[in-house]
This record gives sequence, C-alpha cells and structure tokens, in this order.
Amino acid sequence: MSPDSESQTNELQRCVYVFRDKNFAKGKGEQCSEPVYSDGKCILHIGLPDDQSRSEYKDLAARKAERVAEKAAKDDFNFEGAILPSIDFSEWSVPNLNFVDASIWEHALFEGATINGNVSFVGATIVGNVLFRDAIIKKKASFWEASIKGRASFVNVKIGGRASFVKATIEDNAYFEEACIGEYASFDGATINGEASFDKARIGGNVWFDNATIKEGVWLNGVKVKGHVSFEGAKIGGGAWFRQASIGGDASFERAELQKEIYAEGVSGAPQAQAAIYRKAKQVWSGLGDRDKADYYFYHEMVAKRELKKPTFSFRDAVHRSERKNPKDDIPSIKKYVRSYAEYFLEWPIQHVTGYWVYPARVIRAFAIFVLCFGFLFWFIAQDFTVTALDDSVWCSFLTLFNPIGKIENAQPGLFGAVTVIAGFIGPLTWPVFIAILAKKYGR
Ligand SMILES: [Zn+2]
Repeated sequence: MSPDSESQTNELQRCVYVFRDKNFAKGKGEQCSEPVYSDGKCILHIGLPDDQSRSEYKDLAARKAERVAEKAAKDDFNFEGAILPSIDFSEWSVPNLNFVDASIWEHALFEGATINGNVSFVGATIVGNVLFRDAIIKKKASFWEASIKGRASFVNVKIGGRASFVKATIEDNAYFEEACIGEYASFDGATINGEASFDKARIGGNVWFDNATIKEGVWLNGVKVKGHVSFEGAKIGGGAWFRQASIGGDASFERAELQKEIYAEGVSGAPQAQAAIYRKAKQVWSGLGDRDKADYYFYHEMVAKRELKKPTFSFRDAVHRSERKNPKDDIPSIKKYVRSYAEYFLEWPIQHVTGYWVYPARVIRAFAIFVLCFGFLFWFIAQDFTVTALDDSVWCSFLTLFNPIGKIENAQPGLFGAVTVIAGFIGPLTWPVFIAILAKKYGR
C-alpha cells in the first residue's frame, strides 16, 4: 500500500461532520477529526435510533456517554453537532460548553456547575429539561435558535456577560428567578409555551422580548433592570406581573398584546419606564372592563409623567451650554426648564387635590385639610388662644369654605378679611371639582 493511498483511507475514515465557522455559518467550518464509527460519522455525530426502549439505543447511548466522559476528562467540552442521550455536568467546573447544533435526547443538567468561559447551545435541540440552577457562567450564554422541549431553569444562575435566547423555543416553563445577568438579555422572537418567571432577577443591561410569544404568564416582580425593557410586538397569553420592578431605562409595549391581567404596583426607577408600564396596565384593565384598576394605573401614569416634567437642572450643563458658539441654544432650553417647572408645580393640586380626576375622596380630604388650616389661621389672627376660640375658628372656617357669600360680605378689611376672601375663593371651588370627578368616574 502506497503512503498516498493510506492517507486517502484515513481521510475516508474521518467523520464527515462539518462544524460551523467563526461567523456561525453552517457547514463552513472545519471537519470533525474523530474517526468514523459507522455511516461516515463518529460516535458523537452518529444518530440514535428513535425507539429509546430498544437495546440498540441503550448500547449506542452507553458508548456515546463513554466518549463524552473521555473528552470531559481531557477538559474538552466541544460537543458541537453531537447527538447524545443525556448530559450531566452538575457541580462540575469546566472551561466552556459548546453544544452548538447538538441534539440531546434526554435532560441536560448543569446545576451548580461553574463554567469559566462561554456557554453555547446555539441551534441545539434538547428533548428533556435544561437545568442550570445555581450555576456560574463567567462569560456569555448563547441559546439562540435553541429548541428546548422540556423546561428551562436558570434559577439563581450568574452570567457574567450577555444572555441570548433569540428565536429560541421552550416548550415548557422558563425560570430565571434571582438570576443575575451582567449584560443584556434578549428573548427577541423567542417562543415560550409555558410561563416565564424573572422574579427578583438582576440584569445589567437591557432586556428584550420583542416579537416574543409567551403562552402563559410572565413574572417580573422585584426585577432590577439597569437598561430598557422592551416588549414590542410581544404576545403574552397569561397575566403579566411587574410588582416592585425597577427599570433604569425606558419601557416599551408598542404593538404588544397582553391578553390577561397585569399587576404593576410599586414600579420604581426611571419615570418614563413607570409611565409606560402604568399606561399599558391602564389600557389592559380598561380593555378588561375593570374601571377601578384602570383608574389606579391612570393615576400612577400621570404621577410618573408629572415626575418627568421636573427637569433635572445640572449646573455643569448650564455652564457648558454658555460656552457654546451659538448662545441662542440657551434660550429655548431655559424656556423649556421654566415651562417644565411651572407645569410641574401647577399640576400639584391636580395630583393631590383631585387625584387626576379619578379619586373623589381626595377632594373631601383636601376640603377637610383646608377647613383645619383656615381654622388655625383664623385662630392665630384672632389671638385668643382658648379652646372655645379654636372651636369657633374652625367652625367659621368650615362655613366660609362651604358657603362664603355671607362671610365675605360681613368681613372687615384687614388680615382677617383677606384670609376670608381667599378661603371663600378656594372652598366653593372644591364642590364643582368633586361633582365633576363623580360624574367622570361614575357617569360613563
Ligand atoms: Zn464527528
């Protein structure tokens, strides 16, 4: 046998599987270097028989597991395109995990494992569950276009880099409770056929659910997101929970379909995110015909919007601005500041006295506070600091606020008269406001 024909034979005995290249183009990378087991494929790349109960399946699965153990012993965790029965690296410490395009016919378990580099399941299919609970992934986690037939658990996982589940499919529930993701997390175009929970998760960048489909509910209670949260074009079949969520950037729900109830009490962080979440909640609840909840979220949306009107004036910015070549730049911005502040302060009574026209009880409360304030004012002006005089002053204040006509006519010029006129102006204003709110709230 000539050396030439020998190398040809070796070439023929090499597994025909071709890996992805650096740009993740399929079949454009290197060829597998493992020897052929049968059908031109190595033991890792050869397919498993469909019937898992058959002895062929069990024999092949055992041989595959052996090869996996051999590779793992050498710190080689490249299982790209491998067809494997089940994988269990729970509590292991590994340099990285490459399961790109792999097919795992049972569960993939990595609970409590430490992965010192990247984890990639791009285009992988896992028939069972994927469990990463309590694992540490030092760099990024890529699961785009992965298909998980069971459930996915990333509870309390720590991911140093970004987490990508773009166009991934999870047939069961997805759990990310208390997960900590250093950079962004993307679920764009993902399909989760169960529920998705992110309760108390912390995300260092943005979170995207654009065009994602979540068949059941989505939980984001107590989540802390440094950047934006986006649900543009997302479809959520169950409820949505945002209680005590904190969003540092913006929130977007454009074209999002939230079909069930939404709970968003105590959202904190950037006012624009609060306003967007409360507005969505208001729309959802009015769609469901729950006027009280719609009013509640409308009120909070308006409070957040009022916060947005309070511009944060930075002295450094102002100085910087005056150094600009075109000083005209200054004029509209100062005007903007002044107008914004004016609107912010003028809106105070609308928020606190009328409750943005949805809380009639607030008007009664405001009226009671006015009665007490003017009562004390009259008491101080009269300078007769006895309990009887205080009683009289409060009663006088009540009458003035309730029906000022006679009181103003009889008021003497001076301080007492001036305060009477002011009270006489404010008091009667409260009743039309009260009636207007009642009419708006119950008259539609
Ligand atoms: Zn191979």
